[in-house]
Amino acid sequence: ATFGTLSDRLTETFRNLRTKGKLTPADVDGTVREIRRALLDADVALTVVKDFTAKVRERALSDEVNRALNPAQQVVQIVNEELIAILGGEQRRLQFAKNPPTVIMLAGLQGSGKTTFAGKLAKQLEKDGHTPLLIAADLQRPNAVNQLQVVAEQAGAAIYAPEPGNGVGDPVRVARDGVEHARRAQHDTVIIDTAGRLGVDAELMKQAADIRTATDPDEVLFVIDAMIGQDAVNTAKAFQDGVDFTGVVLSKLDGDARGGAALSVASVTGRPIIFASTGEGLDDLEPFHPDRMASRILDLGDILTLIEQAQQAFDEDEARKVAEKLATEQFTLEDFLEQMQQMRKMGSMKKMLGMLPGMGQMKQQLDDFDEREIDRTEAIIRSMTPAERRNTKLLNGSRRLRIANGAGMTVTDVNQLVQRFEQAAKMMKTVARGGVPNIPGMGSM
Ligand code: GDP
Repeated sequence: ATFGTLSDRLTETFRNLRTKGKLTPADVDGTVREIRRALLDADVALTVVKDFTAKVRERALSDEVNRALNPAQQVVQIVNEELIAILGGEQRRLQFAKNPPTVIMLAGLQGSGKTTFAGKLAKQLEKDGHTPLLIAADLQRPNAVNQLQVVAEQAGAAIYAPEPGNGVGDPVRVARDGVEHARRAQHDTVIIDTAGRLGVDAELMKQAADIRTATDPDEVLFVIDAMIGQDAVNTAKAFQDGVDFTGVVLSKLDGDARGGAALSVASVTGRPIIFASTGEGLDDLEPFHPDRMASRILDLGDILTLIEQAQQAFDEDEARKVAEKLATEQFTLEDFLEQMQQMRKMGSMKKMLGMLPGMGQMKQQLDDFDEREIDRTEAIIRSMTPAERRNTKLLNGSRRLRIANGAGMTVTDVNQLVQRFEQAAKMMKTVARGGVPNIPGMGSM
């Protein structure tokens, strides 16, 4: 997955650091050097890497770290904070106009995921009670209008498009007329899909700039494919110079990108990343949280996103019940099973597992994951008595053997499940108390 290698290497660096007590300047330099290499290998732009490592080094050598009970943990904390900073710091939400319609214009290279994102955003806006209108101002690519029509239909959103056959019209006019139409028809939000080229070119930039001038958008979102690698910085700068934008959408974060684009683009352009696009389906869209992305990269686990997604998939009653249980710490194996089953509903189980802490070290298992795992979990839990499900402390050797036999599995399977449940329960408790879970692999420091 995106950031996989980077994440592995940073975790490894910190693991080595952990074996030291006090840190010497040489330890710090060694660590910083490893971080620098890991970032460069992940295609992060050189300027960003230099700046980042200089800050980490300076802070890591400070007295504050020297005096800390656990300097290694302190260094992880510093790296985490600096990562959040280069990812844009605070979360930035979409901004809406005081006087509707809010106009959102999309720009980016062809194939970056603009049209797909337009559909995702329209669907999200619909869900939030808005009345979006999609405008098809990509008249360059023969099939673009058609593709947007398909996406609009899937999203249940209205679309403004030139008449079929008139596809060679003027995109600036289509955009302007579309916004006019939205105003008359009382759409409160407008999403303008614009043309992209395979590479940056002057004509493309001028057209996009003209659309910007003609429609005076509240947001111009630059959509960038996370797989683009080292080219990210040049492309982003070209769009910033040519059209300028107010925010960034990172697409294809579900792919195998090394993550450099994601880590470079906000700090190079000074524009915040607002959304992360994580799949081809219209629901694969997440608001971008710099802090959560940083903990994902450092393999601290993206507990908050996980919980938020779980809440969306649960119905409200269910969510309240779980929240109550978390608060009162009565999270049982039955809840665990229920959650796993709910997760199945959430689509990609792999994606969910990828957000759990410590999973960075379990890449292979993750790739091998199949949903039958849930069936096996279910079989084991079903073989337990209600009392056992409520209290795993009861599970002594003979009970475990009975359960294994009942479920047609081995005692090791049962042990593994219980262990996983206990970890999850512990995590849930920490989160319910508003805390940050322990960093896996770092021990309790
Ligand atoms: P456009 O030319 O900028 O409008 O790009 P499209 O929206 O047509 O997307 C190009 C291709 O990327 C299509 O095949 C999409 O299905 C795919 N795509 C878009 N967003 C994502 C994403 O977040 N993840 C993945 N895996 N594929 C995506």
